[in-house]
Parts: sequence; C-alpha cells; structure tokens
Amino acid sequence: AIQWGHNNDGFFGPSGVGIADADIDAIEAWEITTGQTVSPEGVNEVVIAIIDSGVDFNNPDLTANAWHNPREIPDNQIDDDGNGLVDDYFGYDFADLDSDPTDTQGHGTHVAGTVGAVGNNQLFVTGVNWNTKIMALRAGDAGLSSAALLGSYNYIVEQKLLGVNIVASNNSYGGSPASGIDRFAISATIDAGILFVAASGNDAANNDVTQFFPSGYDLDGILAVGASDSAEQVAIFSSNGAASVDIHAPGVDILSTRPPQLGFVDFLDGTSMASPHAAGVAGLLGDLAPGASPIDIKAWIMAGTDVKPVFAGLSVT
Ligand code: CA
Ligand code: CA
Repeated sequence: AIQWGHNNDGFFGPSGVGIADADIDAIEAWEITTGQTVSPEGVNEVVIAIIDSGVDFNNPDLTANAWHNPREIPDNQIDDDGNGLVDDYFGYDFADLDSDPTDTQGHGTHVAGTVGAVGNNQLFVTGVNWNTKIMALRAGDAGLSSAALLGSYNYIVEQKLLGVNIVASNNSYGGSPASGIDRFAISATIDAGILFVAASGNDAANNDVTQFFPSGYDLDGILAVGASDSAEQVAIFSSNGAASVDIHAPGVDILSTRPPQLGFVDFLDGTSMASPHAAGVAGLLGDLAPGASPIDIKAWIMAGTDVKPVFAGLSVT
C-alpha cells in the first residue's frame, strides 16, 4: 500500500520492498474507530493542535477537518471571544501575529494530513483519523520562532480550559537549546490535559548524550517519536535514545497532503512525519476514552507498540 505507515503489505518502501505488518495497524484500529464520534460542531470534538509552519486548509483533503473556534466569528475584524486575538477562527499565526495560519512552506500541511486528512472521500490520502479537528498554530516557516511557539503553547492551554477537547499537540520541530521558559510552558499544556507529541530530530544522534528539545524535556506528558522505515529498520536520519525517545513510528517515504500550489500531495521523510502518526493515534484514543489524561494516552500508545529487536536500545519501547 502506498501509505505503508497505515498498512504495510510488503510491496512498498525505500527499496521498493517492505516488511508486511511493519506499520501502525491502522486497518485494525479503524475497525474500532476512524476518529471522533460525529457530534455537533464544537461539542466534544477531538482536536489535535498542529504547531508548525501552519496548515493549508485549501487542500480539499483537509478542509472538512479544520477546527473552528466556536466563540469566534471569522473575518469580522472583531475579537468576539475577547482572548486578545482578532478572528482566531482556525487557530492563529503567532509568527506574523494575524488570524491566518495558512501554510506556504508545506511542512505543517504534510504533518496535518498524517494526523487527519479526511478519510474515505476518494481524494489523495487518508489520515490516521478520518474525522478529527485540526487546530492550526503557525510559528514560522523552517525555523520556528521561540516567541511564536510560546504563544502557541499558551493558546492551546487557554482553549483547553475553555472546554475545547484538545487531546494532543504535534510538535515536529526542535533543536533549540534547553530553556526553562519553554519547559515551563510545555509543562502547562500537559497539566491542562494535552499530550505533547514531539519529533526526536533528524541528526542520527544519540539523544541520551546530545540532548534534543523539546522532545527531550524530562516531562512525563511528552511522547518523543523517532522514525522507522517500511523495511522495519530505524530510519538512517532518526535520532534515537534508550531513555529519551519513547517509540518509533513511520517516517520514511510518507505520503501526505501539501498546499495546492505545491501539488496537493507528496512524499516526505523525517521524524517530523513519524510524530504525527503517533499524534493521530492519540486522537483515536481520545475518541475512545473521552477525558483520558495525557499520561494514560501515552501509556496506551507505548503499550500498543510492537517491540522489535532492531529497535532495542534506540527507544523506551
Ligand atoms: Ca479572538
Ligand atoms: Ca472575529
């Protein structure tokens, strides 16, 4: 299957071959749930926050799964919900400080499609969640700004406390030095009830020795994700760590959504692509177990991971 991360039939991969069942067992999961139980907009919707280069909801495979701020009227130049941000309807652009978090770089749109491209619609690709709500927080293009990241963390805490059912944030970036301020802000998102799913980095490093942030902060509510390939090997670029990386997920030759001007879909490699597979699974679990804590969801993901000898010593599971 071309989206081998969902279902690896052994016939697709970096060398043209794969290992059957080296995947996230999405077909099996979809027999249980394909995402949020259908509910009126704004009520108990499972929301995944994508903190990245933005999301282009003009890709028709993402449009229906865009989160809408239930307290904000779009494009009326009024801060209807009084949170200090005018027209934050899809999320917010904390890099440019405006209401349009549309992605032009392409990274965040790819990540978002892995989490939640609309399923079963005869278009392009399928997300781990067929139905979910994607909140777009734009923090820059390639290099995300520290201030924009802090704004994004604060935003998801505020929305969660208002009752928006944000189950996880996806954080496919990193490499900045350790920061007490960042750690504190991330800790607040976890304390609010949001699992922090983060990429382990693409430096082929041992993160137990060369620390990588934010995935490496010592917080129980962070799920640090390295990348595997379709031949059931660790990706050659993936940073790993027996203590500092929790799991590996598909991150090589990952087909997902792109902004329309970049061609709607493409393959990308990276731990950035692995992390949203895990964040997507968190969304499915959030649908099955409403109100579950980030610690519980992380534990369930780790308990459900296939333990393979080739990954021994490279991650917790
Ligand atoms: Ca507002
Ligand atoms: Ca408004």
